[in-house]
Amino acid sequence: MFFYHNLWEQFMNCPYCGGAEARVMDSRGLDGAVRRRRKCLGCGTRFTTYERIQPHEVFVVKKDGRREEFSREKLSLGIRKACEKRPLPTGAIDKLVENIESELFEAGRSEVASSHIGDLVMGGLKQLDHIAYIRFASVYRRFADIGVLKQEVDSLAVRRDLAPRNQLPLPSSETVASRTGRKRR
Ligand SMILES: [Zn+2]
Repeated sequence: MFFYHNLWEQFMNCPYCGGAEARVMDSRGLDGAVRRRRKCLGCGTRFTTYERIQPHEVFVVKKDGRREEFSREKLSLGIRKACEKRPLPTGAIDKLVENIESELFEAGRSEVASSHIGDLVMGGLKQLDHIAYIRFASVYRRFADIGVLKQEVDSLAVRRDLAPRNQLPLPSSETVASRTGRKRR
């Protein structure tokens, strides 16, 4: 089951019910980051967040022009949501997050467009897992209609031979369409 939130705005909220209040159960520092176990006060679900100490600030410029500090946590949660229940190798998601973050910080810029980050995620997921890629794309690109999403699925199906080894086959585009259709708001 998936609960998509606005990718760059609401991932501090409970990933299950969207509740804004969570109690910190446990907090520990590791390797330039703080890991916190949280319990949602709304639905009682426990989840983990990581706050990263970053070398310098990078601001994300959103489509409407607003800026907010880059959050590794939001990036990670967005990717994790898309990859939920996918049979990915251990550490694959962390590695993708790490790569994207490095790319952003190494560029040395203080601002980056949210669309650029979205493209990096899409590029990474496309290599990793087609289903996760389609899930992310369907939210991030906010496909205007199901026809566009179907085209994307079909174009991936055509290039199935280019898929990474061990990647599961794509579902038919009808399956994706009906699944996505149910989730539209
Ligand atoms: Zn909750």
